[in-house]
Amino acid sequence: MPTEQSKKIIAQIRRKSFLQLINGTLTAGATTIPVIDPATEEVLLHAPVADKAQANQAIESANQAFSLWRTLPISDRVSLLLQLLDRIEAHRDLIAQIITLEVGKPLAAAYADVDLALMWGREVTQMSLEPTRLEKAPDTIVEIHHAPLGVVLAIIPWNFPFFQTLYKLVPALMCGNTLIIKPAPTTPLNALLLAELAHDLFLAGVLNILGDAGDLGPHLSQHPDIHKISFTGSTSVGRHVMASGASNLKRIVLELGGNDAALVLDDANLEMAAKSIFDWAFMNSGQVCINIKRIYVPTKHYDAFCTLFAAHAQRAVLGHGLNEQTEFGPLQNKRQFETIKQLLEQAKKDGTIVAGGTITAGKGYFVPLTVVRDIDENSPLITEETFGPIRAIMPYHSIDDAIQRINNTPYGLGNSVWSSDLERARTIAQQLESGTVWINTHFALAPDVPFGGHKQSGLGVEFGIEGLLAFTAPKVIHINIP
Ligand code: NAP
Ligand code: MG
Repeated sequence: MPTEQSKKIIAQIRRKSFLQLINGTLTAGATTIPVIDPATEEVLLHAPVADKAQANQAIESANQAFSLWRTLPISDRVSLLLQLLDRIEAHRDLIAQIITLEVGKPLAAAYADVDLALMWGREVTQMSLEPTRLEKAPDTIVEIHHAPLGVVLAIIPWNFPFFQTLYKLVPALMCGNTLIIKPAPTTPLNALLLAELAHDLFLAGVLNILGDAGDLGPHLSQHPDIHKISFTGSTSVGRHVMASGASNLKRIVLELGGNDAALVLDDANLEMAAKSIFDWAFMNSGQVCINIKRIYVPTKHYDAFCTLFAAHAQRAVLGHGLNEQTEFGPLQNKRQFETIKQLLEQAKKDGTIVAGGTITAGKGYFVPLTVVRDIDENSPLITEETFGPIRAIMPYHSIDDAIQRINNTPYGLGNSVWSSDLERARTIAQQLESGTVWINTHFALAPDVPFGGHKQSGLGVEFGIEGLLAFTAPKVIHINIP
């Protein structure tokens, strides 16, 4: 239940008006959509959503703005982005409160999202887009510049919406592109607040932020005047996005689902591994692409590990994100809640539940942190991505067998190896099929380290210089000196 202080925060946010940003103007929606607090199921307020005409207007303005925006010196673009980041910092409390209310996550985690977005944005603006110069012969110079692509469409999911918006926005605009942001229908408010903070900073059309009732995605992704799509979401929608780019050969980066495994070796410190794996398995109530979703433990340590791991889950405090003692919030939306409820029933059939397992009656999309052991590995809990707080632990006899089972998935986002023997862990890391393999940690991301999925977890990368350059195309100027 929200406290008195929380009620004040909610009332203050309800009084705010949230508008889209289209062609430099704060704009009401063609219609509105209710935004729900997932911890209470109450309507927070009604947010504006665009119809196709408004979406087209945003795309047209972004195309018009591109011709001027791309010619500005990069230092001017960076200066505007740094001003935006300063405004965000000045509104840190409000943004964090909005994230907590619409996403459901604890306030401390929402502040961490805002701070991460600020750190990330500022670091990206330090990266260099200087052309490379090759002196091929005394009379020949080749310059490789990084040209912007045009109008970028950023499709944002609901799990870290503010951070995800910023880590697409800063590199896209810095490189000289213009941008359309489409937040998830269930978490639009943080993006609409950004619209308010940014509306008078950029040339009209450079940044557009639309609301969506759940039907705008295909219209935008098929639009012939969009030149690049940066999509974060599920693998199944990722396939549609890729197909819709074919008509005008849009550049596409896809960050999709994951089914990350943690492989505990027999020489790992079990207590430390159980605690860290618990943290990264259940972070954001299990709604992260790079949560640890499958845990492999040597047979001889299996019982001990299951007990240690389940104890952490049993102690977890669930509640409204504005309550100080809350460690884990609800699932973000009803659809996700219904999916996870079904998986909970499946878990009871396919394995033995040693923590959680029962949803208490009452309002809010709360699912207790649930740990399953002795599970049939053909269960959808293992073969598919479980995007919620249910995690399974499996025993293994030999490392080769564990590696084979871990790799037996169409996903390839991340994995981790837990061991006190770093050389051994590194050798095993080479054999795991994923874009990232962590050793004795999981989840660690940085603005200067590329992140992307192998197999069907994605296409291309974000972050690092590789991620920045993915918002550009190489442009060669070949000079013959007469
Ligand atoms: P989702 O179901 O894939 O939806 C993402 C968005 O795609 C929606 O807002 C939807 O907009 C839009 N969309 C649907 N069809 C489209 C189309 N044909 N063209 C363009 N857009 C379209 O994902 P979600 O439920 O928001 O997020 C959960 C998933 O995201 C999980 O699988 C998770 O692993 C993944 N994820 C991955 C990462 C990563 O970095 N790899 C990070 C976070 C989450 P409409 O409203 O218009 O339908
Ligand atoms: Mg839809």
